[in-house]
This record gives sequence, C-alpha cells and structure tokens, in this order.
Amino acid sequence: MKIAILPGDGIGTEIVAEAVKVLQVLDLSFETETALVGGAAYEAHGHPLPESTLALAREADAILFGAVGDWKYDKLERALRPEQAILGLRKHLGLFANFRPAICHPQLTHASSLKPELVAGLDILIIRELTGDIYFGQPRGRRVAVDGHFPGAEEAFDTMRYSRPEIERIAHVAFQAARKRHGRVTSVDKANVLETFQLWKDVVTEVHAQYPDVALDHMYVDNAAMQLVRAPKKFDVVVTGNMFGDILSDEAAMLTGSIGMLPSASLNDRHQGLYEPSHGSAPDIAGQGIANPLATILSAAMMLRYSLNQSEAAARIESAVDAVLSAGLRTADIWSEGTTKVGTREMGEAVVAALTGKTIGKTITKS
Ligand code: NAD
Repeated sequence: MKIAILPGDGIGTEIVAEAVKVLQVLDLSFETETALVGGAAYEAHGHPLPESTLALAREADAILFGAVGDWKYDKLERALRPEQAILGLRKHLGLFANFRPAICHPQLTHASSLKPELVAGLDILIIRELTGDIYFGQPRGRRVAVDGHFPGAEEAFDTMRYSRPEIERIAHVAFQAARKRHGRVTSVDKANVLETFQLWKDVVTEVHAQYPDVALDHMYVDNAAMQLVRAPKKFDVVVTGNMFGDILSDEAAMLTGSIGMLPSASLNDRHQGLYEPSHGSAPDIAGQGIANPLATILSAAMMLRYSLNQSEAAARIESAVDAVLSAGLRTADIWSEGTTKVGTREMGEAVVAALTGKTIGKTITKS
C-alpha cells in the first residue's frame, strides 16, 4: 500500500502531521511519500499541482490531503491559485464520488444548533456525485433572450445532465457503502420536475436490484432538506447529484456544529481516493498549534476503510477519537466549560495514546 501525503498550506501541515502519527502506530505495512501541493507548491515550483505531485498521486493507492489556500494568493490568475490543485486532482484521477459523513459525537452535541436529542449519535454518510450535473453540463453561458418572459433581455443558462453510466456508478458506490454501514440508502432527486432526475431515479432503482440486502427509498430534495433538520437520525447513506449534494452535505455538516471534526473522501472507480478534512487551510489560526486535527485523523480512518480495505484499523481510530472526547479533551473550536483545552499536537498524541493503551492526556495540565 502506498499513501501520498499532501499537507498543503496553513493548518494543513499541522493537522496532517498528527494523522500520520496515528497511522504509524497501527502496525500496518504501508509506504508513505510526501509532496508539496497548493500555495506551498506554487512557491517552490510555480504551480499548485506540479507534475511530480500529480505523478505521486496517480501511483498511490490513496492520498491524505490537508488543505490548500491562503488569502495572499487571491490576486493570482485562477489557474495558479492553490484551490486549483484539488480540482486538478479530482479531474486527473476521475474522483467522481464524494463521501461526506456528518457524525455528531454524543460528547459534542452542545456544538449543534439543533436540540441535543435530535443529533446525539448522528451518523449520516452523504455521497455526492462530483463530476457531472449542472456544474459541468454544456452548453452554458450568457446571451440575449429570444423567448421566455423577457425577449431581448440579457439571460444566463446552464445545462443539467446525467448519463446512465454516471448514475449507475454512483449508485453502486452508495449501495456498497451502505453494506459497510446500516444497509439503508436514500436517493435524493427532483424527479417530479426534472427529466435528469427522473432518469436518476429510474437508474438507481434498476441498480438496486443487484443489492437486495440494502433498503432503498427515494426523497425529493426539498423534503430531504427539511428532514435533515427535522429528524436527521432517520438517514444512513444519502446519495444524490452534484448540486443537491453540495447543498445537503453542508447542511448536514452544520448539524454537527463543528467543522474541525468532519472528514471527507473523494473516490474513483478503482477505489483510489483523496481523503481530506471538510474544512480549509484556516489561515487565521495557522502556525498557532491550536487547529483541531480530528477531521484529518478521521479522514485517515476513512482512507483505511474505503481505499485500503482495513476496516478494523479504521474502527480502531474512530474508537480512539471517541475515547479522547470522552476523556474530556477538546481543541479550542469544540471546547466548552468543564472540558480540557488542548492544542493540535496534544490532541494527536492523545489519539495515539488511546490506540496504544496508554493513559489519555496524562501529561496535559487543565486550562
Ligand atoms: P476554513 O475552513 O479554512 O476556515 C473557516 C473557519 O473555521 C476559520 O475561522 C477557521 O479558523 C476555522 N477552522 C477551520 N478548520 C479548523 C480546524 N481544524 N480547527 C479549528 N478551527 C478551524 O475556510 P475559509 O477561512 O473560508 O478559507 C480559508 C482558505 O482555505 C481559503 O484560501 C479557501 O479557499 C481555502 N479552502 C480550502 C479547502 C480545501 O483545501 N479543501 C476547503 C475550503 C477552503
């Protein structure tokens, strides 16, 4: 197994270092190789995704990615901005399936804007199709309207489209992921209004015939948005298109209230994946040693489960994170009265301690 380590910018280097420590104590045999990406790569090589980094990403079984970006690059031409590295990796590796879990650890329910009983123990996996839909459909553009409500006025238009194979492959991903969880898939569409999503619904239903052990239901996107805040624990795996997934995954993430806790993954049809925290490079706190590394550590757990076929090791990491939270350790973003505030390194070391059977937070003094 080979893992490409791409820490990136800002807090990326701090949080990835902790995730690597966690991987190293698991007693698994894998090779790692680190490379620059984002602003750091631009500084060194003049491009956010240099050929050497892309070559490493291509040959690796999985990529552990920190975050990229800094406001100082905002004036660069778009192609050279750090964020282009992620888009480039998605495109070159064909990463069409985006996994965004929304997990609310019972110890952190106070961080949610919903009532604790609605979110305690929440564990949803949103699977968003990442390379199709209205974000990529052609034609698109601006023109002078020849018909519609205001002929002669300037108008803009985009094209929503999905082909049968694109829907089939994301449906397979969702059903297979459900098998590793609680065996339920909710397919979110807008089949009542959109042709694209009528095809979506038909194809997901057809693919479902190959997964009789998984339960499937269909939900319109407006209802899904409502149910996510009404009774979020009803969901197990949610599969949907690029635009609906973009919106619903952020909504679900916010149910947990803490961006520093949320991992993510983007996979291709060879199960090769890019694993990263859902948050960005947080330039406002970079270099201070206070960033929460748990989203990245949980991304490493996802990497073990979905790309490296090491579900047991993944579960060990998740249990260790749970143990650290139960021991009352918190980085500043999730801290609350009565818990112990720790920095990035102490949090990483506490997860390592939990994995190796040592006392969690032994050397940490209460703040
Ligand atoms: P951000 O996610 O970096 O930060 C938003 C807020 O959350 C900040 O206050 C930050 O301090 C806090 N935060 C984020 N992660 C945290 C963590 N692990 N621990 C504690 N607090 C944390 O979003 P932003 O400020 O809008 O963007 C900053 C830069 O990151 C921009 O250049 C943006 O383009 C980039 N970005 C990159 C990615 C990525 O690499 N995938 C994703 C989003 C944004």
